[in-house]
Amino acid sequence: MQSAEFQIIERYFAARARAAYDSDADLELGIGDDCALLRVPHDSELAVSVDTLVAGVHYPPETDPVDVGHKALAVGLSDLAAMGAEPRWMTLALTLPEVDETWLAGFGRGFFALAERYGVRLVGGDTTRGPESITVQVHGTVPPGRALRRSLACPGDLVYVTGELGGAGLALLARQGKVSLPAEHATRALERLNCPEPRIREGLALRGIAHAAIDISDGLAADLGHILKASGVGATLQLERLPLAPGLTVYETLDWNLPLCAGDDYELCFTSPPGNQIRLLEVLERFSCRCTCIGAIENVPGLRCRLANGELFVTDTRGYEHFA
Ligand code: ADP
Ligand code: MG
Repeated sequence: MQSAEFQIIERYFAARARAAYDSDADLELGIGDDCALLRVPHDSELAVSVDTLVAGVHYPPETDPVDVGHKALAVGLSDLAAMGAEPRWMTLALTLPEVDETWLAGFGRGFFALAERYGVRLVGGDTTRGPESITVQVHGTVPPGRALRRSLACPGDLVYVTGELGGAGLALLARQGKVSLPAEHATRALERLNCPEPRIREGLALRGIAHAAIDISDGLAADLGHILKASGVGATLQLERLPLAPGLTVYETLDWNLPLCAGDDYELCFTSPPGNQIRLLEVLERFSCRCTCIGAIENVPGLRCRLANGELFVTDTRGYEHFA
């Protein structure tokens, strides 16, 4: 007779992980031993990132478990995307207050649907009892020296973002009752918050075209700020160029702090020299990925945000702080 812990692992995770892949080329040993054994190609660097979602902090406890499963992995894949790394393996540490089969089945649906889409394989984890939290560690590979680092922005580079900004932030405000949105915008914004799509293909395509990159988890101003600091440069953004989520365009007077400071959009922000612009737009068009030039990197440190009338808009660049 197996213990409940091992039944959960086998039923909801191990069986699914075995079923999902027909090739074992990059895996010597998966779930079931004390460690997984990964075959890291000898001409690769291993890109590793870990993220935790805590119920009640990162999502309301009543969130659809399918969305929780998706997002728990999406935030990690978004980190790989931002480095231009190819997703390969992941581990999952799951802490749950009780065995809720409906929740586990839903979680698995969201989690594995995304995993299978990007070919990332579950190779181990840990299952424990306690306040609900989910930790996913992702492992990807990138050819040596080709990762997109925060520190590689150069004066003269143009600054770009993929997709659109502010959708997830707007959904948060709507959930808190601070704004009311037309139904179609509310649905789209909520989907953005609960079910972000990691920009994996885009990140891979940006190798050799972009200099620096980051994924926007804490808000554009804060995350671009990390690139500026790491690269020892500054930037000026033209606010009227920001690609706004459709829900934001309904405001006659928009609070620019929303697209600048709201997090959770998981788009990429990156810099690239002007000479690469045509190649860049060609490549991203292949994935029907919207990509917008919003400003330029400069020698003078700091982030300057310019309104259409030329005035500077002062914004908060600190992002979300868990221990504030
Ligand atoms: P150990 O006590 O050696 O850490 P565990 O008893 O925690 O091993 O887990 C047994 C096996 O199941 C290990 O291979 C571990 O990686 C895997 N595992 C545990 N929980 C999960 C999970 N939620 N998802 C995937 N694999 C898991
Ligand atoms: Mg263990």
